[in-house]
Amino acid sequence: MQISAINVYQYDMPILGKPYKMSNTVLDHFDSTIVEIITDKNVVGYGETCPVGPVYQPQHALGARAALEEMGPNLIGANPLQIQNVYHIMEGSLNGHNYAKAAIDMALWDICGKFYGARVCDLLGGAVRENIPSYYSIGICPVDEAVEIAREKQAEGYPRIQLKVGGRPLEEDIAVIRRVSEVLNPGIRLAADANRAWTTRDALMVSLACEKVQFVMEQPCNTYDEVCSIRKQVHHPIYLDENTENLGMVLKAIGDGTADGFGFKTTRLGGISVMRTVRDVCREMNKPMSCDDSWGGDIIAAACVHMGATVPPHLFEGAWLAAPYIEKNYDPENGINIVNGHIDVPKGPGLGITPDTSIWGAPAIELG
Ligand SMILES: [Mg+2]
Repeated sequence: MQISAINVYQYDMPILGKPYKMSNTVLDHFDSTIVEIITDKNVVGYGETCPVGPVYQPQHALGARAALEEMGPNLIGANPLQIQNVYHIMEGSLNGHNYAKAAIDMALWDICGKFYGARVCDLLGGAVRENIPSYYSIGICPVDEAVEIAREKQAEGYPRIQLKVGGRPLEEDIAVIRRVSEVLNPGIRLAADANRAWTTRDALMVSLACEKVQFVMEQPCNTYDEVCSIRKQVHHPIYLDENTENLGMVLKAIGDGTADGFGFKTTRLGGISVMRTVRDVCREMNKPMSCDDSWGGDIIAAACVHMGATVPPHLFEGAWLAAPYIEKNYDPENGINIVNGHIDVPKGPGLGITPDTSIWGAPAIELG
């Protein structure tokens, strides 16, 4: 089997309801990039990458498409069933840009699944369950509003609530963590995600002020070194998200004892292939993890769910999907949706998504 053509689509997706506010950005839409890999055996695979705006992390949508245009021509003629070999071609074509490589990688797993008649989760070792937990992320908003949303989402069935914090007076961050924790039932987990916004001083003050509150502190500061410098003084578990740019950083964070767990983004790390490795490392080292992505539609969502289904439940923090904020599915029949805070693992081969490609319009880039 050979890759005969690659189409790259650009799709602007509006965010439903109010703009989504994080410590460092406000978003009312996102710019997704979808890869369609066509083979000479008429098997077609889909991948997607969607950095959430240009300031959440160094990755951005225009960069993804430029990277795909750079690497794509070298992939024509390669065997899509040999994912590792194709990955080597990508690495030989462009340094870095894991988030663009991830879209190709995802499409290759989709092709493999369709060719062998297996789901991606089966190729990854098998699903340990067919319905996995998600978690709900409450954007920056007034404290009373966050408390109401937390009550509502808990009642809906979400087993974990994440609060966005940072970018506002520290007293409000402390108040929202305390107030929301008071309305959560026992067993409902809480995380406070500063998305790099706190100074080391802020993180230490929040940890002290909320000493009795059980919550995970996610990506409190901008750099890995800052997080390391406060690690031993903070009373709370620390999870890394944005700092996990690649497998090497994950290994370092575990080796240094800096991370108690991770919020992983499938595309930032480099796709399903790299996520499979970090999943196995986390299982070996007993580190909880999530299988998220930074927005995107059904294709990314399916990749996160297939991987999440293979993570041992006691180490799984959930799959965060953009689904609650998106107007429609790429696949109207088998699209990925969150019901009662949980997500069904797709049934079809590959990623299990058959997208209506007309939604995306004509390809932005055609290769091969
Ligand atoms: Mg995060």
